[in-house]
Amino acid sequence: MTHSYDAPVSQTLFDRAAVVTPGGVNSPVRAFRAVGGTPRFMVSGTGPYLTDADGREYVDLVCSWGPMILGHSHPQVLAAVQDAVARGLSFGTPGAGEVELAEEIVDRIEPVEQVRLVSSGTEATMSAIRLARGFTGRPKVIKFAGCYHGHVDALLAAAGSGVATFGLPDTPGVTGAQAGDTIVLPYNDIEAVRAAFAAHEGQIACVITEASPGNMGVVPPLPGFNQGLKDLCSANGALYISDEVMTGFRVSKAGWYGIDGVRPDLMTFGKVMGGGFPAAAFGGRADVMAHLAPAGPVYQAGTLSGNPIATAAGVTQLRLLDDAAYEQVDAVSAELRGLVSEALTKEGVAHRVQVAGNMFSVFFSDQDVTDYEKAKAQESFRFTPFFHSMLSQGVYLPPSAFESWFVSTAHDTQAVERIAAALPAAARAAAEATA
Ligand code: PLP
Repeated sequence: MTHSYDAPVSQTLFDRAAVVTPGGVNSPVRAFRAVGGTPRFMVSGTGPYLTDADGREYVDLVCSWGPMILGHSHPQVLAAVQDAVARGLSFGTPGAGEVELAEEIVDRIEPVEQVRLVSSGTEATMSAIRLARGFTGRPKVIKFAGCYHGHVDALLAAAGSGVATFGLPDTPGVTGAQAGDTIVLPYNDIEAVRAAFAAHEGQIACVITEASPGNMGVVPPLPGFNQGLKDLCSANGALYISDEVMTGFRVSKAGWYGIDGVRPDLMTFGKVMGGGFPAAAFGGRADVMAHLAPAGPVYQAGTLSGNPIATAAGVTQLRLLDDAAYEQVDAVSAELRGLVSEALTKEGVAHRVQVAGNMFSVFFSDQDVTDYEKAKAQESFRFTPFFHSMLSQGVYLPPSAFESWFVSTAHDTQAVERIAAALPAAARAAAEATA
């Protein structure tokens, strides 16, 4: 597919990158493989806007895949980072910033009695699963098709996100032994979970689920599903792990837990809590966390865990996220959802705009999407021209039909108007698309 606009500087950078980096990127979805064309190399971000290496400005609906909930270059976050930088970059010792960030998390999320800081969401889920296995003395893990928990070996079975984008059922490099204790079940199917517990009695260490999935597009849990998981875990001596790397501190002050109130044994966080830096965490019941080294025998560590710059950014961002901030993000999200739906409806394009708090995504489908099979059944060929039309008009969407869109407190009337102006042509392009 050719595109009627180009990005020569980005293309040159991409060509150079492809020489020294596999596929030219450091995380697969950035390569635009699902939509084609030249990935935009961004050079700066302010508020709701990104500027690429060719000097073009975009309204950003990716927000760094979630973290930038206050928009780019928020002055108070920048000031906190600059202040921290002036005091040194990394000490490899405990620091006050770590305590403040941990306290902020524990204060906001009632089931989290203790928390351990790490550097990525992948590390958080990997460590939470190790802890669950160490705590229960059991080997098996239940996960759901279409849920992505980072590139943890054992969890790269029927994962969403980049794996969904590329249609890989699995990945080479993960051995049968590593994935052998992973039981993959259809999302939103509580009977399948019940059956798995019956079939593997005394073997299941934990169920891990995205609190509300955003990695196969936005597919919220059906009413009662998360509570059902929790109840089955409790009845069978397994731990319920809620992965809030994406939803945590984004969809409410207390993340998805703040919306559905189902109490996990362990939770994982990332993205928003790092304010744009690599900071993530896992936490939960104090009696479970007590099994973690050095308090207990389950080993887990990190040279840069609790880095002072990352914790300064994270604490500052979280403290700025009061009720008013979430109301603002929710309102912008609702407005955009309405605009997208209106534009697609006008062009007669079958679609569903699915929502979880202020996260949302568009499925080119005439039925509600409740699991990964239905997500994959959408007419994703319509997304490519839709995406490129928006991009050419200065709106940066996630370059995949299987990702959530993200907004921020910085998405003001002007930014929304730019998106609204771009939507009719994009909807037309989606309508005209052929498989
Ligand atoms: N868990 C969920 C729900 C995620 O959405 C992601 C990343 O998108 C991860 C875990 C992995 O986080 P990271 O990319 O920081 O390793």
